[in-house]
Amino acid sequence: MIVILKQNTTEAQMQSLTGWLASQGLDVHISKGNFETVVGLIGDTSKVDEELIKSLEMVESVRRISDPFKSANRKFHPDDSAVQVNEDAIFGAGHFGVIAGPCSVETEEQIISVAQSVKNAGAVMLRGGAFKPRTSPYDFQGLGAQGIELLLEAKKATGLPIITEILSIAHLPLFEDIDVIQVGARNMQNFELLKELGHLKKPILLKRGLANTLKELLMSAEYIMAGGNEQIILCERGIRTFDNTYTRNTLDLSAVPVLKELTHLPVVVDPSHAVGSSKYVESMALAAVAAGADGIMTEVHNDPLRALCDGAQSLTPEQFDKMMKKINIVRQAVAPGKEC
Ligand code: PEP
Ligand code: MN
Repeated sequence: MIVILKQNTTEAQMQSLTGWLASQGLDVHISKGNFETVVGLIGDTSKVDEELIKSLEMVESVRRISDPFKSANRKFHPDDSAVQVNEDAIFGAGHFGVIAGPCSVETEEQIISVAQSVKNAGAVMLRGGAFKPRTSPYDFQGLGAQGIELLLEAKKATGLPIITEILSIAHLPLFEDIDVIQVGARNMQNFELLKELGHLKKPILLKRGLANTLKELLMSAEYIMAGGNEQIILCERGIRTFDNTYTRNTLDLSAVPVLKELTHLPVVVDPSHAVGSSKYVESMALAAVAAGADGIMTEVHNDPLRALCDGAQSLTPEQFDKMMKKINIVRQAVAPGKEC
C-alpha cells in the first residue's frame, strides 16, 4: 500500500503518521521526491483501514499495490535510486559506469595488467572471479581466497573498486574488503544467500538467472531489500531461448526499459555472458547504452587465447579501449552531458 502526502505536509505531521502506521506492525518506507512524498507500507496491510488514512488532512491519496515486489517497486520510490561505490563508480539516477576485467583472476601480473588497462580506458570498477561457478567440476574453479587477495592487490595498484562473485555464505568473511558483491545468474534464487546479503551494508550486483523472469529477478532483489540492504544493482546478462546456436544466450535488451519502469533500482547489462563471443560484445554494449542502461559490465583479458575461463568472449584491452570511445559517443547521444 502507498500513501501519497500533500505537498504542504510538515515533518511533525509525517512523524505522527509514520509512527502510528509502524505501531500497527508495518514497515514504513518514506520516499521524498521533488514533487511528492510517498509513504510505502510493507507487511500485512489487509487490516489497515484505508478510509481512515484517506480521511487524514495531510493525505492526498492511498493506493494498494498488487505487485509482489514492494521495496524494489517504483511506485514505492518514484525517483531513481543511485548505488554509489566510490566517487567515480556510481550507477543509476543519471550516473553511468563501466565495469571490466577478466572472467577469473589467474595471476598477479594478469589482474594488475588488466586493471591498469581498463582503468586507462575509463572503467570505474574492476571485475574478476575468485570463486567460479563452472558447469564442469573438472574446469578451473578459481583461485578462491588467493584470488580475493590478488583483487585487493589490483585495487591497491590502481585505486579501482572491486566486484567479485560469491558462491557460498561460508565464504562471506573473505568478502569484507570487497566493494561490491556479485550474485551470479546461477545463484539468483539462492534465497538463503540473498537473505544473508540483506544484512550487509555493501552494494550487491544481482544477475538475472538463465531462465528467470523479470518478476523473479525483482523478487530476488526484494529478498535482499527485505533484510535492510537497499544498495542493489540489477544485471541483465542474457537468457536461454530456443536459439542459442550462434550466441551463448539471448540478450534481453527489453529488460532495460521494462525494469526501469517497474523499479527504481539501477540496471546494468553484461553483454559478454549474453553473446559468448568477443565479436558481438561491442554491438550489444552500445545497444544496451542506447536502451538506457545505467552501466555495462564486460570481460577483458590481456591474453584471451590463454584465458582459463571465457576467453572466447573476452575483449583485448585494445578492443575494450575502442569500445569505450564508442560507448561515450552513444552515451552522449542518449544522456547529453552525462557520458562516463
Ligand atoms: C561472471 O560474471 O563471471 C559469471 C559467472 O556470470 P553469470 O553469473 O552471468 O554467468
Ligand atoms: Mn565469465
